[in-house]
Amino acid sequence: MKNCAIVGINWGDEGKGRMVDLLTDHYDIVVRYQGGGNAGHTVINERGRFALHLLPSGIFREGVVNILGNGVALDPENLWKEMEEIMARGVPLTPDNLKISSRASLLLPWHRDLDALEEQRLKDHPYGSTKQGIAPFYSDKYQKKTVLAGELFYPEELKEHLAELMEWKNLTLTGVYGAKACTMEDLEDWLRNYGEKIRPYVCDTGAYLKEAAEQGKNILFEAQLGALRDLDFGIYPYTTSSNTTAAYAPIGAGLPSLRLTDVVGVVKAYSTCVGEGPFVCEMFGKEAEELREAGAEYGAKTGRPRRVGPIDLVATRYGVEVQAATRIALTKLDVLSYMEKIPVCTRYLLPDGDGWRETDRFPFPLELSRAKPVISYCEGWNCDISGVRRWEDLPKAAREYVCMIEDAVGCPIRYISVGPERDSIIFR
Ligand code: GDP
Repeated sequence: MKNCAIVGINWGDEGKGRMVDLLTDHYDIVVRYQGGGNAGHTVINERGRFALHLLPSGIFREGVVNILGNGVALDPENLWKEMEEIMARGVPLTPDNLKISSRASLLLPWHRDLDALEEQRLKDHPYGSTKQGIAPFYSDKYQKKTVLAGELFYPEELKEHLAELMEWKNLTLTGVYGAKACTMEDLEDWLRNYGEKIRPYVCDTGAYLKEAAEQGKNILFEAQLGALRDLDFGIYPYTTSSNTTAAYAPIGAGLPSLRLTDVVGVVKAYSTCVGEGPFVCEMFGKEAEELREAGAEYGAKTGRPRRVGPIDLVATRYGVEVQAATRIALTKLDVLSYMEKIPVCTRYLLPDGDGWRETDRFPFPLELSRAKPVISYCEGWNCDISGVRRWEDLPKAAREYVCMIEDAVGCPIRYISVGPERDSIIFR
């Protein structure tokens, strides 16, 4: 377990935060390597219930160093607010246990504005953005039109750089969207209120990680969202704007020479999806409401009801492949305890001439909107399993359900989560 990434296999919200919180016990360092404050990792431990957005989920463990890598969308405003909240609840955050990469690009105030303006312009066909500025941020990063966290140490150059960017960005804000222009006073306020607050945490995390790796420290890489939201391999354009795959961990974390020794893929025992885009196995009506209620499927960041469905073996197998998962953590198995029979999406039907053809391969994104799920049923177990801690104590039907998933996706299920609390886990 030297260098392990914990990643989502599905559409996100699989319970990665809960698994990172559990497994950090074995690690010295936890690194968030992509995405931004649009994440909502819920962690429940002896200190209480927390919804983390940008902070790595190892922040609650004493002695664990948490890093925000160069691949994240570093939003100083939201990060500082999140840090204040966490510190107010008694969790110490110091430059010793939280380090921000000097190479992380900053999400600037206009990125959030542009996100909201673009969703507004799209009216009936929005992407379902969380409006945290992530897409405009990554576009600008690739255009080399944002600033690096390390520039906070060079105030004069930073102001000049920001003034140049602002002039360019105001063309879009005012010209394209007819919105208010940003002023230098706005930016100076923003720098004072947030930039200066996070500056003490900014350092060369690449050098820190290199040294840690040489000393044989165990490093955990924490991803946001899941394989199906990966910019290159997901359900484009309903993806996020970064790579959620484990393969990106060494780059986004700041240690490109690193080889991962393990990838824990987190799979939910059923499917959920937030926002727009194709969701082949989607359930509707009463059946969906029951599952949504049983699993408390409402977004941690937005409170939006999540779309729900049975486990999708086609998408999950694809997710396991894309993530190169070596082990699976299956979460929320307890949620299915109320079902007499458990639906499972085993294959897709795709239009083929005048008829349909079955496939077990995850299709090209455009084809997803035409696909229909093939559903079969497994026996339910009809009893509360949230207190079970040993594999052999799970009801036979629950064990069969786990083994069925394992066989279908071709990767060993090593952890089975039966509740949100840290210890509600079965090691297998
Ligand atoms: P993440 O973004 O992948 O970390 O996932 P979220 O935190 O958005 O969603 C997972 C939700 O399920 C959180 O509210 C967790 O507390 C909760 N959760 C995680 N594992 C389990 C489990 O095994 N059973 C139950 N009932 N809830 C769980």
